[in-house]
Amino acid sequence: MPELPEVETVRRGLEALVVGASIARVEQRRPDLRIALPPRFPRRLAGRTVTAVDRRAKYLLLHLDDGEVLVVHLGMSGSLRVEEGAHATGLGELYRGAGKDARHDHVVVHFADGRRLTYNDPRRFGLMDLVRAEDLATSRHFAHLGREPLADDFDAAALTEAFSGTRVALKAALLDQRRIAGIGNIYACEALWRARLSPDRKAATLVTRRGLPSARARRLVAAVRAVLAEAVEVGGSSLRDHVGADGELGAFQNRFAVYDREDEPCPRRSCRGIVHRTVQAGRSTFFCPVCQR
Ligand SMILES: [Zn+2]
Repeated sequence: MPELPEVETVRRGLEALVVGASIARVEQRRPDLRIALPPRFPRRLAGRTVTAVDRRAKYLLLHLDDGEVLVVHLGMSGSLRVEEGAHATGLGELYRGAGKDARHDHVVVHFADGRRLTYNDPRRFGLMDLVRAEDLATSRHFAHLGREPLADDFDAAALTEAFSGTRVALKAALLDQRRIAGIGNIYACEALWRARLSPDRKAATLVTRRGLPSARARRLVAAVRAVLAEAVEVGGSSLRDHVGADGELGAFQNRFAVYDREDEPCPRRSCRGIVHRTVQAGRSTFFCPVCQR
């Protein structure tokens, strides 16, 4: 499943390829993905120009010149590709996911300049919707979502606020999309290692008695932002065949300190710990029990 850095990588690729492009027509090949496609979907897109490509959590937001926004989520196995001509010359394969079997090409956007943007999704856990720009924040996709960890205002105070009132462990709090949106399992493990914090520590211990962020909260916020930013820089992680807009495999998995490194030595200089794996709520947690407290 694409995590935030992969989706941000796709966003950058899409931005370079489709901003300014006019939509000539849209082929909708089935009525639904995870949810129903919006009413009169092809007609509402035809004739529109893409004015910007944004991201909120793991959703891509293609702003259109009539004030509507095409909301796209890649789900578990969704991918986007941009091609042109009869021979489908690839211009950008934006998250390869599970493949490009044409049977799973569910929506094809034809641009006036002859290029095509195809949404492929074998498992159909993804979605597409049309929402007015002014209604995005209150829409069903975003109303419940927490803070954006790469936003400029995500600091230790914001983290403390997001964790207020929780009794759960730190890792569970980091993965709770209602508190912070878009941090997945890999990046939660890596950020906790960098911040030298145990995944089992109670999230509430990052707040002082007076409700202020502790030094640990400042360490964690810096670690989360650094891990995500570095992953975006190298195009995400390629555990599931992630391919950036230029066809380069994402390379962040070469930098994992603990994720998927069970029984290997902790890479922190001066730490002699061995990376452990535990399973919490069905997800693997990788951590160093010596330096993460
Ligand atoms: Zn260690």
